[in-house]
Amino acid sequence: MLTTLRRILHEVDSAPDLFHLLQTVVKSVRTVINAGYCNIFLYDEEQQKYVLSATDGLDERAINYIRIPSGKGLVSIIAERAEPINIEDALSHPQFYSEVLQGEVLYHGFLGAPIIHRKQTLGVIAVQQREKSRFDAEDEAFLVTLCAQLAGTIAQAKTSGHFTALLRGQTTKKVENITLKGIPCVNGIAIGQATVIYPQADLDAVPDQSIEDIDQELTIFEQALTTCRKEIYNLRQRLAQSLPAKELALFDAYLSMLEDNSLGNEIRVAIKTGISAQSALRDVITTHEQYFEVMDDAYLQERGADIRSLGQRLLACLQEQQRTARIYPANTILVGEEISAADLAEVPDGRLAGIISGRGSINSHVAILARALSVPAVLGVEGLPIAELDKQELIVDGNLGQVFVAASTELRQEYLTQQSQEQQLKANLLHLRDLPAETLDGHRISLRVNIGLTINRGSSLRLNAEGVGLFRSEVAFLGRDRFPTEEEQRVIYRQLLTAFAPRPVIMRTLDIGGDKALTYFGIEEDNPALGWRGIRVTLDHPEVFLVQIRAMLRASEGLNNLHIMFPMVSMCSEIDEAKILITRAFNELREEGLDIQFPAIGAMIEVPAAVYQTRQLAKRVDFLSVGSNDLIQYLLAVDRNNAYVAHMYQSLHPAVLHALNYIVQETKAAGKWISICGEMASDQLAVPLLAAMGFDCLSTHSANLLQVKSHIRNIRIDQAKEALAAVLTMDSAKEIADYIQQQFYM
Ligand code: PEP
Ligand code: MG
Repeated sequence: MLTTLRRILHEVDSAPDLFHLLQTVVKSVRTVINAGYCNIFLYDEEQQKYVLSATDGLDERAINYIRIPSGKGLVSIIAERAEPINIEDALSHPQFYSEVLQGEVLYHGFLGAPIIHRKQTLGVIAVQQREKSRFDAEDEAFLVTLCAQLAGTIAQAKTSGHFTALLRGQTTKKVENITLKGIPCVNGIAIGQATVIYPQADLDAVPDQSIEDIDQELTIFEQALTTCRKEIYNLRQRLAQSLPAKELALFDAYLSMLEDNSLGNEIRVAIKTGISAQSALRDVITTHEQYFEVMDDAYLQERGADIRSLGQRLLACLQEQQRTARIYPANTILVGEEISAADLAEVPDGRLAGIISGRGSINSHVAILARALSVPAVLGVEGLPIAELDKQELIVDGNLGQVFVAASTELRQEYLTQQSQEQQLKANLLHLRDLPAETLDGHRISLRVNIGLTINRGSSLRLNAEGVGLFRSEVAFLGRDRFPTEEEQRVIYRQLLTAFAPRPVIMRTLDIGGDKALTYFGIEEDNPALGWRGIRVTLDHPEVFLVQIRAMLRASEGLNNLHIMFPMVSMCSEIDEAKILITRAFNELREEGLDIQFPAIGAMIEVPAAVYQTRQLAKRVDFLSVGSNDLIQYLLAVDRNNAYVAHMYQSLHPAVLHALNYIVQETKAAGKWISICGEMASDQLAVPLLAAMGFDCLSTHSANLLQVKSHIRNIRIDQAKEALAAVLTMDSAKEIADYIQQQFYM
């Protein structure tokens, strides 16, 4: 069964559109189960009907003709009860619904299963047999498994508009005037042109793409081909001494395959038919690979793998060539299944207008970066039809998590108006710039900024931030092909410390792992969130840690506003070890004649283990800072990057609020200072509660700084304390959110 299931899913993957996909499924299921016919009904929400959308066994004219009203027929029972039905005689069932074409034979045995995606029923698959008997339990289990696997793909078709198009009788749909839904990650409206980023060097991910300028495409291809030949030749020369002649021959074979009258030429011919170089490469490589794969001889089969690996290499060269030749339009909307911080960094200053990505969620690092840049972002968009979006005009609504493709003129006008209203609103907050973050009854809170993953210190200084509450030092390590030297780091840190002096700057030591990867320091783990992250990595690599600490200390000479903070602390011993290394670097630098002061030391509270050790940790440092992005993910067991569970990532979850309250009380009991630097610090519903708990500092990205200040200046601390006492007795984030909204923002 597993092999059959895999085969069907594989065929489904290569179906050109939803119509053919469903047809593939019904044909395969009918054969596997040996049924009289197999049908798929999709649910039309608007008309509240189950529409026959694919059949194998019935007259094909019944497709789109048979429309069973909701509440009628066995199909409705399956959908509404959300469970399969397996009965020996459908015809005698009181709820049998018999709208069929004339002349169609009705069968007795009936088995149907719902297609459900995230609690939403999308449709039903049903098989029938002539005999009056139930289907085997195994068939039933098979159908349920298949439905569960198919649901995601069908849901994607729903997001992209193909599902509705099919219900309206169109087998293919051009992507225009459609709405995509995702997670609203960065507020704001962007209107611009899509630039699609494809995954690097993955032949399977290359879409069908046609081109207009064949000559330009050929030129790019020739350049990529030359680079690829050079790379292989250099590799061969380098390995010539160490590899036996037989292995070396493989490189010669690669080189000759790339020769003009071999693969290279076939790709050229394909490009001349008007398809992109990447699509041409994929087609040629796949054809050759299949040719070898069907051979009986194991040696020859292996050659198929060689062709593929050569294709991947050539694709990488091609992508690199196209990346450097890529022109970003004035209002670029980056679109991709996965967008990385590096992709953002590629866009020239001032051109990035919006971000849309299939993966990611509110607190993914790409969302944090987009927020720092004030670029509206919708992430976790299911069924993003990326291949069809390139160069299209898009509207990104980061407030509601919607994306409009080729929208109507009226909708566009509406969004232009909304965009200019938002800009006005921001400008209206500027008068708060020099006023303190103080409640109506005189309670002061320090407001600082988070900096990195790009250094946007200009806007933070203009907003008169009271310092840097979190500098994500990863910025110094990104976009390179090796670790930065001590001097390279010193220059970056010095700029930041100088810009803010005498205001304090909290520099976090390198926090890689999880969803932050360095290309030159690969970490392969099954479960990265629970793996080698943050301080764990740097304590295992004191040579990397010490270089960073030395660079920070040297950068602080004469300024004395440096604070150093450790990420992902889960044991007291990590702080002890890190402090020993800092003391060592400090003493060395003093001996080298530098006039520096010992920095203030802090630890982040980001994991439950640290929560319950707050007091012991606080005793070892000068200050603590809550990294709520990670703390929420670990407390609630909800991956901060996973769109599937995004609705469960709740910063107002009672468990989160109780933990934060406890952390503040324990820190105060140890007589230390405490800040919060996760995204929660700029959540308007959380701000009154954080103030009431007693956080000394909120650190937010600069785009939200004045908004947070405005919230603080509009509340009374005694009222916030009453609200805190009330919410700590409540059971759900929803109840808490409604209460805060009503108390402070209505
Ligand atoms: C956090 O986890 O809240 C935090 C500030 O660190 P990062 O988002 O960089 O993991
Ligand atoms: Mg963190």
